[in-house]
Amino acid sequence: MTSTPMSNIPEILARLRRSVAEGRARPIEWRRRQLDGLEALLVEHQDDFARALAEDLGKSPAESWLTEIGFLLTEIRYVRKRLARWLTPERVRTPLATLPGRSWVQREPLGLVLILGAWNYPVQLTLGPLVAAVAAGNCAVLKPSELAPASAAEMAQRVGEYLDRDGVALIEGGVDRATELLAEPFDAIFYTGGTAVGRIVMQAAARHLTPVTLELGGKCPCLVDRNVNLPVAARRIVWGKFLNAGQTCVAPDYVLVDRRRHDELLAAMVDAVGRFYGREPRASADFGRIVNRRHFQRLERLLEHDGSPTGRVILGGDRDADSRYFPPTILADVSPDAPVMQEEVFGPILPVLAVEDMDEAIRFVNSRPKPLALYLFSNDARLRDRVLGETSSGGVGINDVAMHTTVPGLPFGGVGPSGMGAYHGRHGFETFSHRKAILQRGTRGDFNLRYPPYTPAKMRWLRRLLGRA
Ligand code: NAD
Repeated sequence: MTSTPMSNIPEILARLRRSVAEGRARPIEWRRRQLDGLEALLVEHQDDFARALAEDLGKSPAESWLTEIGFLLTEIRYVRKRLARWLTPERVRTPLATLPGRSWVQREPLGLVLILGAWNYPVQLTLGPLVAAVAAGNCAVLKPSELAPASAAEMAQRVGEYLDRDGVALIEGGVDRATELLAEPFDAIFYTGGTAVGRIVMQAAARHLTPVTLELGGKCPCLVDRNVNLPVAARRIVWGKFLNAGQTCVAPDYVLVDRRRHDELLAAMVDAVGRFYGREPRASADFGRIVNRRHFQRLERLLEHDGSPTGRVILGGDRDADSRYFPPTILADVSPDAPVMQEEVFGPILPVLAVEDMDEAIRFVNSRPKPLALYLFSNDARLRDRVLGETSSGGVGINDVAMHTTVPGLPFGGVGPSGMGAYHGRHGFETFSHRKAILQRGTRGDFNLRYPPYTPAKMRWLRRLLGRA
């Protein structure tokens, strides 16, 4: 892997800060040019990106398109089409006490922002925030994850070719580069990754009072009620779980199913895996690989609990550490205390737990940290309202998994330990913008009322004007 020489970083940052000072990224034409550049970069090099993603994660070309390249193109086009409208100053009512006058909110760029990407969707999670950052008129430094080196190298090469070098820079490297960058003052930091590093990022940001967006993870529960179309539920759950070999922040982490449908759901899920990946998923072009040996070993450890197998293996099979092939694995009869139910799985292991009813499922979810996503499969509108009203999570999918992240109008982000702040579509534009409050008044007339000395008569009028008479 190439790595940006350390000495270059101060130089790069000085160049970008100069651009911020000159207002280089403010004009809408600059923003549109960067969005066009990003689009061209992705369209013209989609095969190169697909190759890099296959190298890093064994992603199939179809998956690379659906979850990275195509996803980003949709986002770019959505944002570009609406950008002028989002930039239009937003009029707000001016109260009596400040009349005559006009008030409005105007979005302005924050300045220079740092984007730290994660490895599981290395292109989407690095360039996606960039779409929002440049749309909002910021200069940006990207630091993709070192754990997806081929994708990082591809982005490093293309960003320099297609985007304004005085406005956007990509710095390759690992923890040392991230640490070096975090010591610098930025106007915003956007981080995607695990909770532990999220804390480090927030601490570093606090030194400069830099606002942060943290896109973190956690265990996303999937509740399956008794009254559902089980084959459809099973297909959707299995698809969302085994996509990218389970290395998806919004993948269903575990299933809580009504005891009465437990066995049927297991059978339907095994059937769905067979249909998607065949009897030998290792041979399927559509099933990915674990990112590295460390994560492979971490997943192996999750299959054990106190020296015994974790639960009953409903589906699984041979693994291959050399090629980092970890098969789709479904576990039943899992103890809530098992490690696989304590930490985020982030791999192709799906524990399924039976519950008496959905009340128990809701209590279970509420006894644990707030997740990034929560899924409910049910046709019962009352239960749906209860789950929405009684639980908290970054997002919710009802009768589907992961797909809510593809709706551009919906904010994507966590709550509590699953993160803070959000992006996608307008929400990303807002995240990277400052909402400047403006009141403009004329100078022809000037009521004396607000100026001292405050006589009783003036106070009476003021109280009346301010609505507290
Ligand atoms: P990672 O190891 O790729 O790290 C993410 C970024 O943090 C990288 O750029 C890395 O260089 C940097 N980093 C790592 N250690 C650092 C340190 N000590 N100091 C400063 N920077 C450091 O990613 P990860 O943490 O393995 O990602 C997996 C986690 O991310 C999972 O928990 C997953 O759920 C979560 N995730 C969340 C989202 C989301 O959008 N909410 C998306 C993907 C992944």
